[in-house]
Amino acid sequence: MAEFTMELNDEQKEVRDWLHGFAADVIRPAAAEWDEREETPWPVIQEAAKVGIYSLDFYAQQYFDATGLGIPMTMEELFWGDAGIALSIVGTGLAAVGVLANGTEEQIGTWIPQMYGDAHDVKVAAFCSSEPDAGSDVASLRTRAVYDEAKDEWVINGTKTWATNGGIANVHVVVAVVDPDLGSKGHASFIVPPGTPGLSQGQKFKKHGIRASHTAEVVLEDVRVPGSCLLGGKEKLDERLARAREKAKKGGERVKNAAMATFEASRPAVGAMAVGTARAAYEVALEYAQTREQFGRPIIDNQGVAFQLADMRTRIDAARLLVWRASWMAVNGKPFTAAEGSMSKLFASETAKEVTAQAIQILGGNGYTREYPVERMHRDAAIYTIFEGTSEIQRLVIARTLSGMPIR
Ligand SMILES: Cc1cc2nc3c(=O)[nH]c(=O)nc-3n(C[C@H](O)[C@H](O)[C@H](O)COP(=O)(O)OP(=O)(O)OC[C@H]3O[C@@H](n4cnc5c(N)ncnc54)[C@H](O)[C@@H]3O)c2cc1C
Repeated sequence: MAEFTMELNDEQKEVRDWLHGFAADVIRPAAAEWDEREETPWPVIQEAAKVGIYSLDFYAQQYFDATGLGIPMTMEELFWGDAGIALSIVGTGLAAVGVLANGTEEQIGTWIPQMYGDAHDVKVAAFCSSEPDAGSDVASLRTRAVYDEAKDEWVINGTKTWATNGGIANVHVVVAVVDPDLGSKGHASFIVPPGTPGLSQGQKFKKHGIRASHTAEVVLEDVRVPGSCLLGGKEKLDERLARAREKAKKGGERVKNAAMATFEASRPAVGAMAVGTARAAYEVALEYAQTREQFGRPIIDNQGVAFQLADMRTRIDAARLLVWRASWMAVNGKPFTAAEGSMSKLFASETAKEVTAQAIQILGGNGYTREYPVERMHRDAAIYTIFEGTSEIQRLVIARTLSGMPIR
């Protein structure tokens, strides 16, 4: 187990500086254009693939970094560049982690490389869990997967929504119900290989922020996938379902809590994205406050402005510490006894919303225009309190964990 540290080691600093250079030189200059176009920034993803930032190797290295700081550091730097473009670069990782966490070695080796493609032919992947009637309430999924034993195939029907890269992905990972009586324990994840008949893109959403990232519905109509596409395999699924049925008989609450624990581990990564956006807006505001003069002096000379900046920076640093602590705990298998993963996501995402709004205020009229980036950063920041569990759901998880009560 690695000791918790608040400092990056020399190797991590080198990687951070390299990521920062890419964010500053490639991502940030392209941000306004792709925000306006509301299209996937393929050339930027390609550039990221060329230098090695968009690759399985790079993410695996950060994911398995024992200090736990590899992923938060990566997210913070890329999202500092621009949230929409950064999500287009890291969105595939959501699906890849789904396979890494649940797949067999063969599935990992077969599908993850196809999610990324290569620098000459980049591909993306999508993780499809949310549905029109199952957002926060993940247990109420309706997409159904039925096993056709004669053909050793699964038949999937349903509609997924809000899928990042949905419909444009080479590989889709789809969560579906295999046993409707078991709530979230009756779910399983499936690979839908490239070109599978029956999978199509529904509407593509026009969004408030992170507009360079593609978000769409995914419609599944009699989608047939081979038995080998069930993540983890049939034997493991059957064993898991039998255990869940047994546990459900003894007490449903324990089943529910186990499902929540998995989310806890991925939430700090979203917190780190929020820290990146917040830091970017704070830096713009600090520089502006030092150079903009009113009443014959820089506006930062007023405590009213300087104190806002002091609060912004304090919150950002506090958010990063919560994120780093939770990431270290997740990588080192420390139990989240106080829902520390949810805490980090809650605090960092609310911080990003508040700090980006304060940055607009400090830039005055300029902050409200698209001539300056803080307006875009504020729109982007709104996503962090929504996806991977809304702020209300984080509070629910924290309160339930602290009290042990089934708070509603
Ligand atoms: C841009 C974007 C990208 C996304 N990417 C993906 C993706 O790649 N894959 C994927 O599967 N999903 C994705 N999502 C879905 C996202 O995770 C959901 O939007 C989120 O979980 C919230 O679900 P919902 O939108 O249905 O809101 P709802 O669950 O309907 O919530 C609406 C409001 O009610 C509140 N609420 C709900 N239940 C409670 C409660 N018990 N107590 C208190 N308040 C409550 C919520 O906090 C929220 O404020 C994405 C969403 C967006 C917007």
